[in-house]
Amino acid sequence: MTKPHLPQLLALAVLSSAAIAVQAQQPAAPSDQPKPKPEETEVWQPVPPVVTPGNPLGAPPSDAIVLFDGKNLDEWVTVKDKSPAQWNVHDGVMTVNKSGGNIETKRGFKDYQLHVEYKIPESITGSGQARGNSGVFLASTGPGDDGYELQVLDNYNNATYVNGMAGSLYKQAIPLANACRKPGEWNVYDVVWTAPTFNEDGSVKTPAYATVFFNGIIVENHFELKGQTLYIGKPFYKRYDKAPIKLQAHGDKSEPISFRNIWVRELP
Ligand code: MG
Repeated sequence: MTKPHLPQLLALAVLSSAAIAVQAQQPAAPSDQPKPKPEETEVWQPVPPVVTPGNPLGAPPSDAIVLFDGKNLDEWVTVKDKSPAQWNVHDGVMTVNKSGGNIETKRGFKDYQLHVEYKIPESITGSGQARGNSGVFLASTGPGDDGYELQVLDNYNNATYVNGMAGSLYKQAIPLANACRKPGEWNVYDVVWTAPTFNEDGSVKTPAYATVFFNGIIVENHFELKGQTLYIGKPFYKRYDKAPIKLQAHGDKSEPISFRNIWVRELP
């Protein structure tokens, strides 16, 4: 047997001390520790508030702020001058008044859950973006189409650019499915909106996220927005605190669409 050289001895020493360290880190055998109890991982506080669900499902839950119940536009104003909204309320629905312009809520919101229903008229005409175009702006951050638009459009057998179809976050997020019901039937959007937050200097602290169910089918899954949705150019963020929800009176020549049963639940 050859005599080990010094470097080999050192290597052996390092290895054996490492082995001792590993041994020291080994958890004690289960039998050495008190047996965990299920109670140790139970949480009892704070107790969630009781919310009575809407009946039927889709009707406003007990804690919802009802934005439109089919009777009047008391919760809405015209975007351009904040005068009373001039859309047409009839038969429990509101129909877009294209010459009346975009309308928005009087209230401002941060994070929320939103329910909106809309119907494309059975007699709809036009193609591409000019067929039942409207929109739900999840935050209205200024005049016109300023903000974050969840597109409303008839894409039942109507093709357009996919990042501008119904269920898209306009020109940012392609919907995961085309869940459009045919014209004449009611469509339902259920949205979870996480508002962007900003630093003192106006820079983005946390981006906006949107999750969207379209007729019960998820079409946007916690999508991170790159900023406001724009018709032309690259999205950017603009600082805001609370913002109204806005509905679009789009200038296309097709028949105006209708909305009903709009409610929101503010999230902590
Ligand atoms: Mg639109």
